[in-house]
Amino acid sequence: MSGIERPAPPSPLSPSARLLLGPGPSDVHPRVLAALGLPLLGHMDPEFIALMDETQNLLRYVFQTENRLTLAVSGTGSAGMEAVVVNLIEPGDSMLVCVNGVFGSRMVDVAERAGAKVTVIERPYGEVFDPEEVRAAVKRVGPKVVGIVHAETSTGAWQPVEEIARIAHEAGAFIAIDAVTSLGGVPVKIDEWGIDAVYSGTQKCLSCPPGLSPVSFSPRAAELIANRKTKVQSWYLDMSMIQKYWGSDRVYHHTAPISMNFAFREALALVVEEGLEARHARHALNANALKAGLAAMGIGLVTVAGHQLPQLTCAQIPDGIDDMAVRRRLLNDWGIEVGGGLGSLKGKAWRIGLMGHNSRQANVTLLLAALETCLRDLGSALAPGAGLAAASEIYRQAQKSTSN
Ligand SMILES: *Cc1c(COP(=O)(O)O)cnc(C)c1O
Repeated sequence: MSGIERPAPPSPLSPSARLLLGPGPSDVHPRVLAALGLPLLGHMDPEFIALMDETQNLLRYVFQTENRLTLAVSGTGSAGMEAVVVNLIEPGDSMLVCVNGVFGSRMVDVAERAGAKVTVIERPYGEVFDPEEVRAAVKRVGPKVVGIVHAETSTGAWQPVEEIARIAHEAGAFIAIDAVTSLGGVPVKIDEWGIDAVYSGTQKCLSCPPGLSPVSFSPRAAELIANRKTKVQSWYLDMSMIQKYWGSDRVYHHTAPISMNFAFREALALVVEEGLEARHARHALNANALKAGLAAMGIGLVTVAGHQLPQLTCAQIPDGIDDMAVRRRLLNDWGIEVGGGLGSLKGKAWRIGLMGHNSRQANVTLLLAALETCLRDLGSALAPGAGLAAASEIYRQAQKSTSN
């Protein structure tokens, strides 16, 4: 017999209903899902071109920037990371990367592959950098680019970046930030903070499927890219070519992922309808309720106080509790996904995401009830209802303060 035998056709695709309360992807708003099912346009169709313009304008609001070079890179957040690094870095350039989690380490790897001479400064998982230690390293190294993660999804750490951007500029360096998990959940103010390059992702707080990476470059960064001596190491991510498709020239570079761009436009529209301030306040409230609930159940957090992200809570697994046993029950019995620990936190932490569309009271309540049930089933002596009572008290107080 010749050739590959025809396999039995698979059964119809029907993924189980899940509540995605991990580090991303997060659940997608029905309007975004519906956008994915719309008929395709060609990537040079005037209607699609108009949609690209619209998307750029919506995105400028979400990034709080007037940067012309603001667009969606085809690929997930890591493609955005790579796009930022390979466009700013030429072989032999010096880059300082601040590492306090898995995504900082990934930035180091990407920069090394791009030919950068990388200097790393580190903080333990769960902590953030003090601007003064970044200042000392910048002074010592004199980097061309400083890279830092704004929202470290592996640890739940929320890194202030405004002062660090100022330090980079004072030394004549460019500042690039990872806003994959921050965008849409906490303020990201590209112009006010003076950020030169930023990348994000669609599947975290923007509640869109994974597949695009919004990026933005300051005029100064755009000029740097225009005056490079060497070609960008990646053909696919070369901004000088991509901007000719997104800009007025409209030169074909690669076929835009049409359906993903439909979905992304809808996801951005939802952010604009809600407004950034209201969206950030919603994330803060639901995170406070979750944290109060966890605390009442005796569950501590990995992340230092004062720097805990509202969209990603990194909880310490209580002593004697088996990580996988709990997560398997949450998934199989409740349809809830939460994330495990990465790197040095493997088996020691749960990463609970309340991102974008998923940041809602109903989800906080369900998760606390499910977690309590799982822990009690596994032999924990938790008092029934303690977590729920603490969470609902937070909502009650919030309601009181808004009705006053
Ligand atoms: C998720 C994430 C990434 C990587 O994004 P992918 O979409 O998985 O490629 C990078 N940085 C941070 C902070 C993230 O949370």
